Amino acid sequence: MFCPKCGLLMKPKKQNDKKVMVCSCGFVDKKPEAVKLSEDVKQGKGIEVVEQLDYETLPMMKAECPKCGHMKAYYWLQQTRAGDEAETRFLKCEKCKHNWREYD
Ligand SMILES: [Zn+2]
Ligand SMILES: [Zn+2]
Repeated sequence: MFCPKCGLLMKPKKQNDKKVMVCSCGFVDKKPEAVKLSEDVKQGKGIEVVEQLDYETLPMMKAECPKCGHMKAYYWLQQTRAGDEAETRFLKCEKCKHNWREYD
């Protein structure tokens, strides 16, 4: 890599047990060599409730909202994991827009 200050080729150097890039002009690059993509990001975690869902077009059912006690909610089905699980029913309160998941 080249020095952003003077444009010369930089050399790796050990400093406080860390590898840094130094230039003859005195510039020291302390950034880590490579930023690794975390495994969590790649695999995806947990359930993702679709927030952008156009819920006003969804069917409605009688269900009690755990948050406000309203008795009517929108519902939709969603596959939670890689197909080995049954579809789960998600609900969204008509009144307070609270999302929750229905358990069997
Ligand atoms: Zn330099
Ligand atoms: Zn509610």
